[in-house]
Amino acid sequence: MAWLKAHGRHAITQKQLYDALTRGRPLPPHPVLITFDDGYRNVLENAAPVLARLHMPATAYMITERISGPDPSFLTWRMLRALERGGVEVGSHTVTHRDLTSLSDAQALAELVKSKRTLERRLGHRVPWLAYPFGGEDPRIVAFARRAGYALAVTTHSGSDHTRTTCSDSTGTQSSTRPASPASPRSCAELDENKLVLG
Ligand SMILES: [Zn+2]
Repeated sequence: MAWLKAHGRHAITQKQLYDALTRGRPLPPHPVLITFDDGYRNVLENAAPVLARLHMPATAYMITERISGPDPSFLTWRMLRALERGGVEVGSHTVTHRDLTSLSDAQALAELVKSKRTLERRLGHRVPWLAYPFGGEDPRIVAFARRAGYALAVTTHSGSDHTRTTCSDSTGTQSSTRPASPASPRSCAELDENKLVLG
């Protein structure tokens, strides 16, 4: 994180990214979106203090059935609220962390809707951010994410010759973020040595 900061990368919030994609609002130079999947306690214990010290926003995507569950490696609701107070946003990583593309329509929609509702009810605010488990998405799942009310959804792509890259200068793609709203401009943002592709 200190390296990112020292090298002129600017951590941005989901809202900043959403406003840039949908309204053309400017982003700081070399923007990066810092995200954590699955909701392990080490996000609170290890990452959050470093991020707070460096004033870097981030997002933690939660598997809702594991919050306050029997496995102590996952965050509790109380910890989740502490995480938010410390500047880490919360997003959904579905209810059970199954690959949504392998599920029926009803199952996939339930994963998206129920996880969002649970987070919103327990945290007391809207949760419009989503990370697809295993990066699993296709046009059907993206449509369901929109229908469930998500504004932004992220997936993962590795490798150096990613063909869905929408930015002409991209040579490598670490992750791809696509707005769930249909009419959005496309833009690029650098992510470390790789590229965060928005579009
Ligand atoms: Zn995951």
